Amino acid sequence: MEYALRCIDCGKKFEKDELHTCPSCGGLLEVKIELESVRVDFKFDGINLRVWKYASLLPIKSKPVSLNEGGTPLFKTELVSSSRVYVKHEGMNPSGSFKDRGMTVGVTKAIELGKKAVACASTGNTSASMAMYAAKAGLKAYVLLPAGKVALGKVAQALMHGAKVIGIKSNFDVALELVRRISEEENFYLLNSVNPFRLEGQKTIAFEIVDELGYVPDKVILPVGNAGNISAIFKGFRELKELELIDTIPRMVGVQAEGASPVYRAFREGKTDITPEENPETVATAIRIGNPVNAKKALNAIYESDGLSVSVSDDEIIEAQKLLASKEGIGVEPASAASVAGLKKLEEMGEIQDNETIVCITTGHLLKDPETVVRVCGEPVEVEANLESIRKVL
Ligand SMILES: *Cc1c(COP(=O)(O)O)cnc(C)c1O
Ligand SMILES: [Zn+2]
Repeated sequence: MEYALRCIDCGKKFEKDELHTCPSCGGLLEVKIELESVRVDFKFDGINLRVWKYASLLPIKSKPVSLNEGGTPLFKTELVSSSRVYVKHEGMNPSGSFKDRGMTVGVTKAIELGKKAVACASTGNTSASMAMYAAKAGLKAYVLLPAGKVALGKVAQALMHGAKVIGIKSNFDVALELVRRISEEENFYLLNSVNPFRLEGQKTIAFEIVDELGYVPDKVILPVGNAGNISAIFKGFRELKELELIDTIPRMVGVQAEGASPVYRAFREGKTDITPEENPETVATAIRIGNPVNAKKALNAIYESDGLSVSVSDDEIIEAQKLLASKEGIGVEPASAASVAGLKKLEEMGEIQDNETIVCITTGHLLKDPETVVRVCGEPVEVEANLESIRKVL
């Protein structure tokens, strides 16, 4: 396969995998695959779903660092009665979030480039995933987190898998700024979603949706934080269309939390870039981001797919989390539930047609954030150890 990194702003191409941003204008880079040079060697037959099933569309030449990521379940739900709504539960990946799809490609690229250490800023899941894959690859892992604002399950993973975890007394956006600088100084391979190879792994969500459904859905709804995933999934669909493997692209719907909604506000005002928010706040800590690096890519994805962006309140997010858990048996963390809260919002807005097919991406697992669960569901009741006491509380 032939590919280059192409700047989404000035269009210049670079054949240097190590770059993160355009050396000429500072713009975001994306992996431009010369699709004529690709020989697609997989079939959309609905079987053996895994990230590396789609290796012929991934810009990697060496043996993958893999933990069997991908192949997540696509559940048929009753969330909206007039249409077919599926939930693709990315919380069923090895570390419990979709970040694993990006990390298997990103960490493999780190090895190809001869790097000894990887680094990221994280609202939690990126660090958990990076720590796992770095452990598997034998690389050192450095993590910068907004202190006190990361769900407990995620910190636990990063620590146990052996990352050096540093809490910053500020927010995610500042942590990302700092880790970008320190990575350059120390020659760490940066694995935030500004890294275009991570998005290559994440585009396999689009491939799997087509593979499992056997057709292209009308809408894909997902939470938007740093805005990499929506850009990646759109890119996946666009490549399939350019290869003439599908003939439509779903409308991409990006959902943000009210307290952290720069992409939503830019969309509402018809802009192609965001105005950053200084103090983002939401219960959905995974998308508590005021200055999403991939905003331009995400807004492109939304406009080009004739999609939209909506914002939802923390109450709506928790309500959707409870609905998914109690009616569908799907346990997700708050940020993930934003996709379903967004679905409900679209329903209220009259933006859902009868009989359309919608896929909501639930990005992370319920167990990631046990503290929020205890806060919204309360502690279990405690009683004396006899039948009478138990009967009383049944
Ligand atoms: C990272 C993450 C998001 C946000 O994805 P972006 O690519 O940053 O927009 C949403 N939900 C969960 C659970 C995440 O871990
Ligand atoms: Zn450029």
